[in-house]
Amino acid sequence: MSIHAHPDDQDFTVAGTLAKWAQAGCQIVTVIITDGSAGSNDPAHGPDYKPTLARIRADEQRAANAVLGVKETIFLGYPDGELTASIQLRKDLTRLIRQYKPQAVVTGDPTGFFYGNGYINHPDHRAAAEAAAYAVFPSAGSRPIFADLINEGLEPHEVERLYIHGAEKPDTWVDISQTLESKIEALKKHASQTDTHEVDDWMREWAEEEGKEKGLKFAEAYRVMILKEETQPE
Ligand SMILES: [Zn+2]
Repeated sequence: MSIHAHPDDQDFTVAGTLAKWAQAGCQIVTVIITDGSAGSNDPAHGPDYKPTLARIRADEQRAANAVLGVKETIFLGYPDGELTASIQLRKDLTRLIRQYKPQAVVTGDPTGFFYGNGYINHPDHRAAAEAAAYAVFPSAGSRPIFADLINEGLEPHEVERLYIHGAEKPDTWVDISQTLESKIEALKKHASQTDTHEVDDWMREWAEEEGKEKGLKFAEAYRVMILKEETQPE
């Protein structure tokens, strides 16, 4: 289960890994928390444009997921740009984790405040990552937390691994040499957000940079929290 704040976050960061897992037969669910409606700073786009932009961006995310082999895309519809790691959000994510029972959850780093000297991490990203991490643990696996979910028939579920991208000290590298092209193609589906001409070089350089330390041509780097022993295939 890939959990991110905005349409396109996943595709900038972890799409190579998701495409690789999909090719290996994994079922992947993408959860987009906000409606993406703040993704335009054009003065011509007033508040009336927000529902239109939300629709455009949802379509872009579905198209990107089709490229990656992700079959299911869930939009929680929180207002873009105003996200907090609220108990309500943690509960919504807990519900989804119990419904879909993922082995792994992939999200950002809630501790990532600044990246380099040029980028303050978007507060929605941090809020999404914090809510996702705390939904994974302890909420999803604990019966007494959000006890009314039990009445919805949602039994506790323990996630085995939490994959955190954008971590300061990564410990796991996924070789995306075979899926980098899919990542770039997926990213280009977000035409309302990305300069499709620059995406190729940018993603290639980024994946090279991430792989360098491990001698991989192209990689995505993670800190992985191992929360439970892996289930053996039957
Ligand atoms: Zn974002």
